[in-house]
Order: sequence, then C-alpha cells, then structure tokens
Amino acid sequence: MRGFSVLSTATRRLEGKVALITGGAGGIGSCTSKLFCEQGAKVVIADVQDDQGHSICNDIGTTHASFVHCDVTNEIHVQTAINNVVAQHGKLDIMFNNAGIVDSRRSSILQNDIAEFENVIRVNLIGAFLGTKHAARVMQPVQHGSIVNTASICSVFGGVATHAYTCSKHAILGLTRNTAVELGKFGIRVNCVSPYVVPTPMSRKFLNLEDDDMLDNLYSTLSGVTLKPEDVARAVLYLASDESKYVSGHNLIVDGGFTIVNEGLTMF
Ligand code: NAD
Repeated sequence: MRGFSVLSTATRRLEGKVALITGGAGGIGSCTSKLFCEQGAKVVIADVQDDQGHSICNDIGTTHASFVHCDVTNEIHVQTAINNVVAQHGKLDIMFNNAGIVDSRRSSILQNDIAEFENVIRVNLIGAFLGTKHAARVMQPVQHGSIVNTASICSVFGGVATHAYTCSKHAILGLTRNTAVELGKFGIRVNCVSPYVVPTPMSRKFLNLEDDDMLDNLYSTLSGVTLKPEDVARAVLYLASDESKYVSGHNLIVDGGFTIVNEGLTMF
C-alpha cells in the first residue's frame, strides 16, 4: 500500500477492522479514511462527490479503500451502502457518521429560511440518525461495534455558527448519548468528536478563507499549534479503536481549550 508500509500488522490499531465513513470525500473524512487504512482497516467511503471519492480511493489504494455513492439523507442509500459493506467485507466494525454541511447565510432568526434550515438538519442530523440505525442493525447480531459521529464545538457552544448548524450539532450530541445507552446493551459503543475550526473546503467557504494561515489568528487557549484534519482523524481513531473499549456516550472535544473559558473573564 502506498506510504503505509512502515507500520507492522502488530502495531496497527485497526488491523482487520472494517469501516464505513460518510463524507469520506471531504477534508476530515478523507484524512480519517487514509489514517484508518494506514492502521490496517478496510474503508468504504460514502459520499455524494463521486469523482473526489474515487480519486481518494485510488490515492490510498483500492485494495484498502472503496467508494460508494451515498446521499446520507436517503434511507435506501444508507441501507444499501451498509449492506454492501457487509457483502463485500463480511462485517461492519466502525461507522463514522461524518458527512455534514453548513448553511452559508448567517441570517437572523427573523430571516432564516425554513428550506435552508431543514436541509442542514437533514444532512447533519438525519444523516447520522440513518447511519446509526443501519449500522446498529448489522452490529447488534454480532454484539460488537463502534459508532462515531462528527459533532462540533457547536454541540456545546452557541453563537459561533448558524442556527441550523448549531441546532444540528447539539442534536448530534443528544443522538450520541441516547443511542449509546440503548446500544450499549448490545456491546456497541457510540461517541462523538467535536472539533474547533479545521481547514477544510467547508470551513474555507463558510469563513471566506483565502489562506489557511488566517486561522492562526482565531482565538484558542493553546498557542503554537493550529488544528488540522489529522488531529481530528487521530481523535476519531481512538474512539473507533478498541483502545477506547470502555468509552461510550462521550463527546471528545478537540478545540485546544476554546470552549472551557470565557475570554472576557479569564484572569490569565
Ligand atoms: P467538507 O465539506 O470537506 O466534507 C464534508 C463531506 O460531506 C463532503 O465530502 C460532502 O460531499 C459530504 N456530504 C455533504 N452532504 C452529503 C450527503 N447528503 N450525503 C453524503 N455526503 C455528503 O467538510 P469537513 O470540514 O470535512 O466536514 C466533516 C464534518 O466535520 C462535518 O460534519 C462538519 O460539520 C464537521 N466539522 C467541521 C469543522 C470544520 O471547521 N471544518 C469543525 C467542526 C465540525
């Protein structure tokens, strides 16, 4: 496999695992797909960007990664994608519900458009709901599985993104916690990861970033480092792997401490 040969099978953290990654053609999803394959997993990338998805699989190596066209808002697509993973690989160990969008208009609640609001809820929340539902369907009989959802600091924080996006990410945390309780009975763990701003096509468009260096100026309590897709992928790797075997219902916030302090009141 291209670039992955340095890791022996004994040290790979996902050796023999099978993962489905929605939004796998995007910034965080493609980075996580590469890391998962590097760590010994077979990955199926599910996305609506077909050319980009195929290109990432070719880049990783098609014996390790494959692509399926899947609109996460469409239950038949999600059901079929998961059935195909099981048909192709015999099982599904890891479901990463990561596909997401943000509405571009930062409009007041008074001008908020219902269709735009619903669209964000459909992709970000209904997509993860369907992914969780159908992953649980194939994980329950084997009493094993790890489901990871991509939330955001907007799962616990207000006022830094649109109403629809913030609502959808708060709801992802609710979905994570509720399903962790139910599915824990079947040995299935459910967690979410909550990144701060990461340079990807989504954030570049939303923040009108011409240059990723502009992110260096965003406030964080940690100096000298900036958040990259690789940092989120490593957090997801931990939640997906057996290293987190007793962690469920957890929101792993990856924000350099952004959400723990009120900048206006800090004494440091
Ligand atoms: P991205 O735009 O690079 O990737 C998102 C991917 O989701 C794209 O490949 C897109 O084609 C796919 N997608 C969109 N609608 C879909 C649908 N209906 N069905 C299937 N796939 C669909 O953005 P990203 O930053 O990599 O976002 C990944 C996740 O991370 C999202 O859930 C996002 O909300 C979350 N997130 C991003 C940031 C950030 O700053 N970039 C911060 C916190 C959370």
